[in-house]
Amino acid sequence: MPTLKDLTRAGLWLGLYVLLALWPLLLLLSAPAPRGGGLADEFGSALGFLAISLMAMQFVLTARFEWVAPPFGTDLVYAFHRHITIAVVVVSLLHPVVLLWSSLGMALGWLVPGKAPWEIASGIWATWALLALAVTSWLRRRLKLPYQAWRWSHGPLAAAAVLLGIWHALLAGRLLSRPVVRWLWLAWTLGWIGLLLRVRVFKPLALRRRPWVVSEVRREAGEAVTLVLDPVGHDGFRFRCGQFVWLTLGASPFAAREHPFSIASSAVASPRLELTIKAVGDFTRGLLSVQPGEPAWLDGPFGAMSVDAFPDADGYVCIAGGSGIVPCMSMLRTLADRGDRRPHLLIYGSAVLERTIFREALAALSTRLDLRVVHVLERPPEGWRGEQGYVTQALLDRWLPHRGRHAYFVCGPGPMMDVAEEALARLGVPLSDLHSERFDLV
Ligand SMILES: Cc1cc2nc3c(=O)[nH]c(=O)nc-3n(C[C@H](O)[C@H](O)[C@H](O)COP(=O)(O)OP(=O)(O)OC[C@H]3O[C@@H](n4cnc5c(N)ncnc54)[C@H](O)[C@@H]3O)c2cc1C
Repeated sequence: MPTLKDLTRAGLWLGLYVLLALWPLLLLLSAPAPRGGGLADEFGSALGFLAISLMAMQFVLTARFEWVAPPFGTDLVYAFHRHITIAVVVVSLLHPVVLLWSSLGMALGWLVPGKAPWEIASGIWATWALLALAVTSWLRRRLKLPYQAWRWSHGPLAAAAVLLGIWHALLAGRLLSRPVVRWLWLAWTLGWIGLLLRVRVFKPLALRRRPWVVSEVRREAGEAVTLVLDPVGHDGFRFRCGQFVWLTLGASPFAAREHPFSIASSAVASPRLELTIKAVGDFTRGLLSVQPGEPAWLDGPFGAMSVDAFPDADGYVCIAGGSGIVPCMSMLRTLADRGDRRPHLLIYGSAVLERTIFREALAALSTRLDLRVVHVLERPPEGWRGEQGYVTQALLDRWLPHRGRHAYFVCGPGPMMDVAEEALARLGVPLSDLHSERFDLV
């Protein structure tokens, strides 16, 4: 049930992306080929320009503009960012192959450090930076690279790849051929450097003017903790239930150690916010010992998963696992605060009953909402008469409403989400009625 506004926005975004990614090629058409080269020369140059502009566009996708994600969803934007890297690598490698096909032997010799003429060396280094970036991203988990270490290398490698690429194009290509082309490239370069500054400098500066404080810390089941956050000296922000924020804790928002967390509280109860966070790694484990009074910085809200995107649904179905319950909780709490009367269903997978986050809170919500909660336990206690094992198509078929038009939300561990999304499609749920949010952006 996406609205016409959402579809128009999606179309406009895709059109703008294609235009911005391709405009260097349009410029190329207006610039004379330096060696009066033939088709291979033209095509090879075009590939080089395309590689640089696609690389630069990667910065737009991750510059955290609140308005970029809807109507796609932040996880989809990041998935697009990851997949487009494949195109960038392919185009970057094809560029020298097409240009130098006739003298490939000599060109291979340039791969030996110090052998290439310096206008070519910058291009070779740009390609190495790009390959390092792609390999560390694709194989981060297999290489056991800690997320923060990966992140610290990712930005500099990306900036190096684009800067060296532009430098190479300036020296070896036809960028200097006409002043107008030169100026447009300069503006383009400054534009994406501006995007880097936006995330690393201007955003933290803006956050510093709007501090938050942890006013309460509540232990939850399953090694989770709820941080209650209050704005200090400002009135917070409005959000749509189901959205998330980037949280930085500690004295400075410049720490570049922000983590994404869904808002757990009701959108009606703002400006106070609650984040419920499961301990899985260094940062989240540290939260178990955070004390009230800790300064916090919140960048957001972001994300497109919300019941508010489907206001006319006959009811909502949430399929959650583990900490994926958090955005569902915000949506259910908001619906309860609004006095919603429609029937809702929550299918909620957990390992064991006593480690199920929000078990009591959900029972309490069921008295305020027409809400059925189906717990699915991997290891149920003795005498358990409810669902057990994993969320499967057969299980969904047993519980999903068979009448009316519902909106479906899926959030949880990757494998659970894959099964649920596939099962919903097989059970005939239209893609347009489904919204999911993946917690692993990279
Ligand atoms: C949109 C979104 C909403 C989320 N909402 C919640 C929530 O409500 N509750 C909850 O418990 N968890 C949530 N998460 C997951 C949470 O962000 C990670 O579990 C947390 O960042 C892990 O950090 P760590 O240092 O403790 O663990 P690590 O062991 O360092 O990381 C575990 C995994 O989390 C991811 N991750 C780690 N650091 C970051 C980071 N700075 N930015 C992005 N991803 C990172 C990586 O995929 C990494 O492999 C959400 C994630 C996303 C993307």
